[in-house]
Amino acid sequence: SKSAGKNRITLYDAELDAERLRKAAIEAGIRKGLEGDEFDVVYQPIIEARSGAINSLEALVRWPRRPEGPLMPDQFIDVAEASGLIHPLGQFVLKKACNDLREVPGLRLSVNLSPAQFRDPELEAKVAKTLAETGFPTDRLELEVTEGYLIENPARAVAAIGNLKALGVSMALDDFGTGYSSIGYLRRYHFDKIKIDKSMAGTVDRDPQAAALVAGTVAIAQALNISVTAEGVETEDQARLLRLAGCQYLQGYYYSRPKPLLEVLAIQKHMTEV
Ligand code: C2E
Ligand code: CA
Ligand code: CA
Ligand code: CA
Repeated sequence: SKSAGKNRITLYDAELDAERLRKAAIEAGIRKGLEGDEFDVVYQPIIEARSGAINSLEALVRWPRRPEGPLMPDQFIDVAEASGLIHPLGQFVLKKACNDLREVPGLRLSVNLSPAQFRDPELEAKVAKTLAETGFPTDRLELEVTEGYLIENPARAVAAIGNLKALGVSMALDDFGTGYSSIGYLRRYHFDKIKIDKSMAGTVDRDPQAAALVAGTVAIAQALNISVTAEGVETEDQARLLRLAGCQYLQGYYYSRPKPLLEVLAIQKHMTEV
């Protein structure tokens, strides 16, 4: 009926308002949280498939000291991007991770960059400055990007990736297999590595199509001299299949969840002792 339609519209408006309020509250919270030291960085190991050793640590932001209770990145990164707060937040993560890992020999560091950070014409200068200030070796840093910005502004993306690589940083294409990621991208942007998304890698043991797609991705990557990390590895079976498929690096809960630095280093110490 007409009145039910009207009620639905009213409800819809109310939901939109609630969503806007929620986002505004999170935005204000991020701003306060950056000033109040509410954020942390945790690390998830990336394993070299052949040796089983930790090759790299991926830095992932956490918000454990939020007064209203912790939130995971999926619940606040989009707000940080839309509001521009991803710039100070991303800078916090990069700086903290470089400082944390500077004194840890033999481990590479992977840091996520959001599309909004790519939009910043100062991105390369900021990365160079942070590397200089923290003394973190440039060739041990890898930046992970998703394809969003590559589509939005290909010319700027080519330039930014080229400039970052010229600094000595390596570049990884994250979440490969979730969007439009194509062979064309891999050639055009000169990525050093692709990370096969967990929706594909984490189903190789159940889904023959996923297994075929992983094999095809590895073949393309090999042809282009790009290395492959499989994400979201949760079982021994998946790890074995992905290693056999030719993925050089493996990452997922099967090896370790993201953890505070000292806990991850304890795993590494244990691994080198056994
Ligand atoms: P991502 O970069 O694709 O990171 C991988 C996500 O998958 C992480 O979630 C990680 O905890 C989770 N994961 C790892 N192994 C497994 C597994 O075996 N199974 C399952 N189900 N999940 C696994 P997290 O930490 O919640 O981060 C989610 C997303 O938020 C990240 O996806 C990234 O896009 C974004 N993010 C996190 N930290 C940062 C940051 O510092 N900067 C930016 N720009 N984005 C970040
Ligand atoms: Ca990532
Ligand atoms: Ca990913
Ligand atoms: Ca992701």
